[in-house]
Amino acid sequence: MDNRDEVLGGLLTLGFDEASCISRVHSHLYRKVSPHRPSPYLISKLRNYEQIHASCGPNTRTYHRNMRKIQLSKDNNATATTCNYLIWTPVNGLGNQIISIAATFLYAILTDRVLLLKFGKDKLALFCEPFLNSTWILPHNSPFWKEIYIQTYQIEKDNASNSKSVLFINLQHSHSDSSHKEKFHCDHLQNLIRKTPLLILRSDQYFVPSLFMNPLFNLEINKMFPEKDTVFHHLGRYLFHPSNEAWELITNYYQAHLAKADELIGLQIRVFNAVSTPQQAIMDLVLSCTLNHKILPKVDLQTSTSSVGKNGSVKAVLVASLYEEYGDSLRRMYQKKPKGSGESIEVYQPSHERKQIFNDGKHNLKAWMEMYLLSLSDVLVTTSLSTFGYVAQGLGNLKPWLLYRIVRNETHFPACEQDFSMEPCYHDPPKHYCEGKPLKDFASSFPSLKECKDFSFGVKLV
Ligand code: GDP
Repeated sequence: MDNRDEVLGGLLTLGFDEASCISRVHSHLYRKVSPHRPSPYLISKLRNYEQIHASCGPNTRTYHRNMRKIQLSKDNNATATTCNYLIWTPVNGLGNQIISIAATFLYAILTDRVLLLKFGKDKLALFCEPFLNSTWILPHNSPFWKEIYIQTYQIEKDNASNSKSVLFINLQHSHSDSSHKEKFHCDHLQNLIRKTPLLILRSDQYFVPSLFMNPLFNLEINKMFPEKDTVFHHLGRYLFHPSNEAWELITNYYQAHLAKADELIGLQIRVFNAVSTPQQAIMDLVLSCTLNHKILPKVDLQTSTSSVGKNGSVKAVLVASLYEEYGDSLRRMYQKKPKGSGESIEVYQPSHERKQIFNDGKHNLKAWMEMYLLSLSDVLVTTSLSTFGYVAQGLGNLKPWLLYRIVRNETHFPACEQDFSMEPCYHDPPKHYCEGKPLKDFASSFPSLKECKDFSFGVKLV
């Protein structure tokens, strides 16, 4: 290991106080070194962004001066400021939020805006500050915290010649007014936004592919990411360092249960509708996937000589699910195995929250801990369409086995398929070209975009 592993091949900058964010310096002890090195251009863009953030971000005189100006002219035509800002506002679960922050950060880099996150108490204990000597959290005394206030800045006409000092754009999936979302990447809307000192953006999506559809952004993204399927991998590892509190949970759990295993299998079982989908149907799907693809051994074969795995080796299975029944059932199955034959399978499930809870710091900590632990897996099985799984696969440089998403009691073959890339899927890409013509086939118009395996309406970069 050399110093470059500690700074992730130059992705991270030196100078941080180590004690304030232990994971930043210790994560390389838990993760395999990424075979994907960040490009020199990406590194230079990150260093440049850090400078902008440090000189224009919260706690600087420039920030206060600019925000005062924006505040005074908020209902008028755009005022000129020395720096421009981008406030990200959350919606949906933590996985959705993490992937959309990464996409928003890329947009901030592409447009030289200072990224500020509207983080409530439920998220303050999750991550370290990513930018040296500054914060990425929107100060709590900012007037732009108020929800009711934000909505009044909706773009009314995307062809307006006079831009405002504050604009709000909603890129949330299934948001009813889709016209701006559809055209976000288009030049005419970007030209309008460019003159606006403060853009407030709401998103739960990984909208990087739509940025890629803009010719100017496309050139830059290509230069920053010669390997296009590493956008989230690099930006995620750059931005999301577990806070000391989260890191303690992650490393304690890892040391207690997972460190001694020869192989770690991550198994993320997301049940989108627990009422309509029986547990047995999901369990059958999980077993069909993991046993057929030899991710886990068949129990009754273990005593025979054809047993997969070496004698005495240990496979740890980390189950992430809201429901404890999945971990329990798998554990019971492997407890039956006669000792001393084949490999032993140990099943762990850190939590079982039973339901998604919003605005709850402890609940979010558990979710973040599990996404991170899953990202340390050697082999990852995730549930189709789940952004929780996307975060783990991107951070971990893993092409997951995607469990088919059953909605009722149906059986499905194949139960899972391996993804072709670790990039998150963009579930809600534009359905029209900027001039309004329907956009039917992404791949023929944008050769770097491919239909997602887990959601045929979605696209991802390849
Ligand atoms: P998605 O809905 O699967 O795309 O993922 P999100 O992370 O956006 O939203 C699901 C939320 O439900 C998570 O953020 C957690 O709050 C909760 N959740 C779902 N599955 C799990 C799990 O396996 N473990 C934990 N701790 N929380 C989960």
